[in-house]
Amino acid sequence: MRIDILTIFPEMFEPVLNESIVKRARLKKIVEFHIHDLRDYTSDKHRKVDDRPFGGGSGMVMRVEPIFNCLKTIKCKEGKPRVILLTPQGKRLNQGKVKKLSKFSHIALICGHYEGVDERVRCNLADEEVSIGDYVLTGGELPAMVLIDAVVRLMPGVLGNKNSLNFESFEGNLLEYPHYTRPYSFRKMDVPDILISGDHNKIEAWRRVQALKRTKARRPDLLR
Ligand code: SAM
Repeated sequence: MRIDILTIFPEMFEPVLNESIVKRARLKKIVEFHIHDLRDYTSDKHRKVDDRPFGGGSGMVMRVEPIFNCLKTIKCKEGKPRVILLTPQGKRLNQGKVKKLSKFSHIALICGHYEGVDERVRCNLADEEVSIGDYVLTGGELPAMVLIDAVVRLMPGVLGNKNSLNFESFEGNLLEYPHYTRPYSFRKMDVPDILISGDHNKIEAWRRVQALKRTKARRPDLLR
């Protein structure tokens, strides 16, 4: 997959995209990132990416031209990507959406700032709008990184053990069962005996019950 990122803070990305699983996916050439500084797509000498809102009011709005120019360059070179605008007003990201996005071969992420982007970006340039939750962040960079991390780990060959994708929260509408590791006993808190029984059928049944119980307690909406 190719991921283009349109941002006014390009430096924010490398530290995150150069660690852990995403770094491994890059090294294996499963994913490549193209980070675009929107100021490089302006035509004025001040490299202005924002302006005052028509109609007055507080804050600044990100201008449409740099975003349009940047997307045009990407399209000319690489064909049309799936263009995603990060916005708190978008559809909330969930694991189902992440799975769908992981199937695209090319996506472009537009990171807003200030009061957000000119409405013409939303109406004419974005294929979809994604929110990472019902709260407002200062910019779209962190949401873009959240989306990237969630999408990249689903790509074939990225995770060492592909079974971990089959048994994790939201698969089969369940939260995952609890995990324990050594030591067996820590400050009088013991690991459930079933987990050291060696009986894999019983362990599997116990885990299933735990997953159902905690989903019912914490996220009954998933069971419905
Ligand atoms: N004025 C906008 C509103 O009330 O809907 C909020 C703008 S926010 C301060 C600036 C940028 O941060 C947005 O354009 C978007 O790119 C990003 N952003 C903030 N919260 C977000 C969220 N929950 N999900 C996705 N992007 C978000």
